[in-house]
Amino acid sequence: AALMARNLPKQKPIPGVKHILLIASGKGGVGKSTTAVNLATALASIKPSLNIGLLDADVYGPSIPLMMNLNESPYLTEDDLMIPLTNYGLKCMSMGFLVTEKSAVMWRGLMVMSALDKLLRKVQWGDLDCLVVDTPPGTGDTHLSLVQNLPLSGVVLVTTPQQAALQVVRRGVTMFEKLGVPIAGIVQNMSSVKCTNCSSTISLFGDGTKKMADDLGIDFLEDIILDPKIAECSDSGVPIVVSNPESLQSAAYLRLAGKV
Ligand code: ADP
Repeated sequence: AALMARNLPKQKPIPGVKHILLIASGKGGVGKSTTAVNLATALASIKPSLNIGLLDADVYGPSIPLMMNLNESPYLTEDDLMIPLTNYGLKCMSMGFLVTEKSAVMWRGLMVMSALDKLLRKVQWGDLDCLVVDTPPGTGDTHLSLVQNLPLSGVVLVTTPQQAALQVVRRGVTMFEKLGVPIAGIVQNMSSVKCTNCSSTISLFGDGTKKMADDLGIDFLEDIILDPKIAECSDSGVPIVVSNPESLQSAAYLRLAGKV
């Protein structure tokens, strides 16, 4: 199936949307959604003239409502298109806007695919320079379906540097390459912390991501340290790029936005 996906005739653009950028990871909990939210916010802030959208394609475990502080249900246009919710200059859509927390987890695969299609195409995105898509952890049906149905500009992979995470992200790289999706590069997240007393850097899991990126011939885009402030900001619904734009961490996200 993977080899057949290339150049599939089913790939249909979303009217008005110039670029679609996937954010993917091998494992869950490595900071993929945090990266997606801060990258999208950074894209909107480095060039305010750009129109940026953020789609939460994690139908089972949406994070965007919390991280973007958006909880209302979208209104419908006369043509029954959902009007995306907006915060910090981003047009956002998430399954979390449409269902209660409990109902989504009981869905079967096909229902997930049709929900995903609605989140992509039954939305009044308007003109977007880039739609950033936060995908579920791993590389499964959702990714395959996105690749088969959409012309993608690229994918950013997010990983922590533990061997267990790197091993899975390697498989992700192989899958996207086989499917013909351009790999924008890899972001290493939570590799180290800064000591608050002496401000020395403590490496937590080594630095295997760079070596892997070299091995695979893909770009190492950015290293985002583990900083409780990043998590605190996400949990309170104000991404660090918005709440502390001058911080070193925001600078890393802004650099990343300049590279993708
Ligand atoms: P994923 O989307 O890969 O499952 P999340 O983005 O939800 O991961 O992040 C998992 C947890 O780690 C969240 O609580 C988030 O706030 C936190 N987190 C992510 N990146 C960082 C970071 N660089 N520093 C501190 N906490 C982080």
